[in-house]
Amino acid sequence: MAEMLKFYQELGIEEFYIRRPEVTTVAASPGLGLGAATEQTPRDPAPAATLPSAPQKSAEARPPSSKAVFGKPPAPQYRPVPAPPPATSPGPVVQSMSLFESNSPAEAPRENETLDQIREDLGDCHRCRLAADRHSIVFGQGNPHAELVFVGEGPGADEDAQGLPFVGRAGRLLNKMIELAGMKREDVYICNIVKCRPPNNRTPLPDEIATCSPFLLRQIKTIKPRLVCCLGAPAVRTLLGVKTGITKIRGQIYDFHGTRALPTFHPAYILRNPREEKVLREDFEKIVEFLKSHQ
Ligand code: URA
Repeated sequence: MAEMLKFYQELGIEEFYIRRPEVTTVAASPGLGLGAATEQTPRDPAPAATLPSAPQKSAEARPPSSKAVFGKPPAPQYRPVPAPPPATSPGPVVQSMSLFESNSPAEAPRENETLDQIREDLGDCHRCRLAADRHSIVFGQGNPHAELVFVGEGPGADEDAQGLPFVGRAGRLLNKMIELAGMKREDVYICNIVKCRPPNNRTPLPDEIATCSPFLLRQIKTIKPRLVCCLGAPAVRTLLGVKTGITKIRGQIYDFHGTRALPTFHPAYILRNPREEKVLREDFEKIVEFLKSHQ
């Protein structure tokens, strides 16, 4: 644990990690994508039948309107984020995936750094194997002061070709949802847990996520959104450390180290399961409701 905290402190993102939950009704995993890569991805989400019970929805899940997300914290109605596991936790893959062990670790974040500075630190990144086949680094796109950040899994072929996140079919569905919710794509910020396309669109591997996600966390810390929408299981596991299937935890607001996060289905999953689109719409309505009630 001490080593993990040191790691996060070095990154300057320790506040994303040091808060321990008082209670949790969801299974905790290491977070930061360091967990076992056995859960099905948003490109192939886990069936509900295999999932544990959903956390109970609290009737008081909507706090009174306030600007309290970063200031006066609202009453603890939200699901707490599981803490990282102790260093002795099982998970052999985790042990070998510290950022410190990558060939070229991320630069330490600067105080009040900008997205441009983070992009500069990322450089022509070759910190993991994904660099070998990529055409572009897909850093992220959108409003640097967005209230809402979407985090997907990783670039696909279209994104790799254009260097922009969510510009293919899944992106068009995401755009549609954003617009149906009364927002504009340029008002939000969109990024992924890894910035380079995994071969054949496979799920990013834990060490790839471990290497890349510090940059994502720095981006989120810099943007200071009021809500982070995790699109699909890998994003949920990376940011919230939650192993529970997306079907069970979607649509609920979680604590995310000083801000909030809402997990939902990945748009690519909805493209393959169009009947679930109404669920995605519901979750987007929750996003709008949250943002409106926390002006
Ligand atoms: N799927 C993702 O997870 N991210 C993208 O940018 C595009 C498709």
